Amino acid sequence: MDVTVFSTRPYDRAFLSAANERAGAPHRFLWLEARLSPETAALAAPGGAVCLFVNDIADAAALSVLAARRVPLIALRASGFNSVDLAAAARLGIRVARVPAYSPEAVAEHTVGMVLSLARHLHRAFVRVREGNFALDGLLGRTLHGRTVGVVGTGRIGLAFARIMRGFGCRLLAHDPSPDPTAEALGVRYVPLAALLAESDVISLHCPLTPATRHVIDAAAIARMKPGVMLINTSRGALVDTAAVIEGLKSGRIGQLGLDVYEEEADLFFEDLSNHVIRDDVFARLLTFPNVLVTAHQAFFTEEALTAIAETTIANISAFAERGAALHEVAAE
Ligand code: NAD
Repeated sequence: MDVTVFSTRPYDRAFLSAANERAGAPHRFLWLEARLSPETAALAAPGGAVCLFVNDIADAAALSVLAARRVPLIALRASGFNSVDLAAAARLGIRVARVPAYSPEAVAEHTVGMVLSLARHLHRAFVRVREGNFALDGLLGRTLHGRTVGVVGTGRIGLAFARIMRGFGCRLLAHDPSPDPTAEALGVRYVPLAALLAESDVISLHCPLTPATRHVIDAAAIARMKPGVMLINTSRGALVDTAAVIEGLKSGRIGQLGLDVYEEEADLFFEDLSNHVIRDDVFARLLTFPNVLVTAHQAFFTEEALTAIAETTIANISAFAERGAALHEVAAE
């Protein structure tokens, strides 16, 4: 099949090409650096699949342009599918496939990296030592052993994160509408969200972004948290009301914040903006706090994950080309 790849970066090209070669080169790629939008959708090869990443917004307007170009399949090279208007896709006859699981440990391990960096101020120590400042003042940390970690969403990534934190000797609480017996066997105790917020020293978000979870961390949720709590979001930016979190940081209610995702990241992440002025004042404010660590949607970015993403994406497209149905389709509820 012809496959138009939006938001292409060099690593996408390398991993997708390699996976395609391993499969006998059944597909032909058109590489586009542009993000999908109603304007760029017209660049899709007619009759071919399109391959999208997390900040390609497949809204009704973009989808209708794709439909006019007879695009039958969107192959997401991601697990989250909040960026696609699934109802519009169904109406227009465009099937949507994703990569449901590629390396949950990749995201979980990055999350743990953020927890450790913030707990022991490693992000600050790195800079200090390079400047010849070997004083410890301001770097006093907290031991994780024995502390309570709240996991919001115990799917593949949440469970992998819980497993690691159990290894640290943490007490584990979780909230998920579908409790997982495997997590319970690990020692995870499911509690209502309010109890998790009130009891946790570290709160980590691993649920998908849906209308129900948008701004699940808002001012009211923050008010329930323990003073000095550590909040980590490696899932989707809009789970968190950023303005409320900034107020939480200013009041000290939030003691440390780790973000790999941000509500308005589409205008920032995956680009080198080091020669530009950051126009997003909310994001710029976040970067001023010493107790905030931001990575730019990097948690998935391991060799293992990119290999698995590319292989599943190729398999999705091949299955669609051969049998008219991708392996991992998502449909509107
Ligand atoms: P998953 O589908 O395996 O698990 C999601 C879990 O969240 C499920 O157990 C589900 O029941 C639960 N859930 C749903 N609604 C909830 C709610 N209101 N409150 C609490 N839990 C709820 O998904 P996953 O593979 O573990 O991925 C989780 C999320 O991580 C994805 O949706 C995606 O947004 C994000 N993600 C981020 C990166 C990154 O690089 N930062 C990479 C991959 C995935």
